[in-house]
Amino acid sequence: MIKRSVSEALFERAKRHIPGGVNSPVRAFRSVGGAPAFMVRGEGARIFDADGNEFLDYIGSWGPMLLGHRFPPVIEALRQVLELGTSFGAPTEREVEMAELICELVPSIEMVRLVSSGTEATMSALRVARGFTGRDLTIKFEGCYHGHVDSLLVKAGSGVATLGLPDSPGVPKGFSDTTVSLPFNDATAVEEAFRSHADKIAAVIVEPVAGNMGCVPPAPGFLEALSELCTKHGALLIFDEVMTGFRLAAGGAQEVYGIRPDMTALGKVIGGGLPIAAYGGRKDVMSFVAPSGPIYQAGTLSGNPMAVAAGLAMLRHLHTHPEVYALLEQRTARLTTAAPVGITTNRVGSMMTWFFTDQPVTDYETAKQTATSRFRTFFNLMLERGIYLPPSQFEAMFISAAHTEADIERTIAAARECFALC
Ligand SMILES: *Cc1c(COP(=O)(O)O)cnc(C)c1O
Repeated sequence: MIKRSVSEALFERAKRHIPGGVNSPVRAFRSVGGAPAFMVRGEGARIFDADGNEFLDYIGSWGPMLLGHRFPPVIEALRQVLELGTSFGAPTEREVEMAELICELVPSIEMVRLVSSGTEATMSALRVARGFTGRDLTIKFEGCYHGHVDSLLVKAGSGVATLGLPDSPGVPKGFSDTTVSLPFNDATAVEEAFRSHADKIAAVIVEPVAGNMGCVPPAPGFLEALSELCTKHGALLIFDEVMTGFRLAAGGAQEVYGIRPDMTALGKVIGGGLPIAAYGGRKDVMSFVAPSGPIYQAGTLSGNPMAVAAGLAMLRHLHTHPEVYALLEQRTARLTTAAPVGITTNRVGSMMTWFFTDQPVTDYETAKQTATSRFRTFFNLMLERGIYLPPSQFEAMFISAAHTEADIERTIAAARECFALC
């Protein structure tokens, strides 16, 4: 049995001064019950909580920990920068190195701007797409999450899906009216939307592999169709690779599927666990960003020295160790074998979800048809066995390079036992 009393007491205290006791909604375990475990320490594939429990971690800080917790090159880079100062509000050489490396790893990105969160990256990319095209409308897909950007909180995935919330209060109708929300994997719907609003659509924004309604891969031809339609109608294709960037390949999902979007949003892995994100793309488009162009976007802590040092150490390692991706592929593929008949496993690289349904899950509608009450039981049984999964059916599990073969086998054994019990 795992111990919970310290976390429970901390959670009670937290709820007095923090809404819901957490600083981001899905951390609250609302859909699986109980108090969330308050974490103290991480090492490799393991995290340790305030009650002294040890867990095998399949959240990895919701994506960033591709190489495990306290990855030595990241820790070493942070130590060095710490001695020099934590923020200057002036440019530094490492930011240039980081930009050069991002552009090398992700060839569709010719110019890039660093920001501090994935939300900021998608919000800014959208503003630039609107400013560049002189149009207002955006096409997004149901169940995709692009951060808590006002106009994109329409049929959003992640915590919004987990909590079953309606579209968020506080978003003026005028903002949500600029968004056309369509079913994921439905290229015909996109074609029709372009037919009705062709000269008003600034951008199509998509998670090339959806990860915020659980993992849902793109149907063959879907991303290609988006690219063609955008080119044909003068709209920009924005890949939100905040989750997939540097996780599915050093060049992200766009490398895996061979698509060249006009703009890309990056986050999560790019910071190695520190708050950093980026948006970039075609040079003619990014040249519209101030101070080289008229579209305003800024940030006091953008390109923060600590965050850039951590991110640079992370990206350099991925650049020089491409074999990481083969390892992740192999470990995660092995993990999928734990699921019995009657469970649908979706996986791309080291992102995966076990859906409690025997039907294919290809979009938000089919994701919502899953038995979330069985997921809740499964989650808690796994937690009792020291396996820490995302506390929602609508979030992908992440495997890190620090998960050993033995870790994977232990997880498979636990999962077989738990599937049989729920
Ligand atoms: C996590 C995520 C975001 C938001 O990033 P934050 O850093 O949490 O603001 C945006 N898009 C996708 C695809 C994400 O997974």
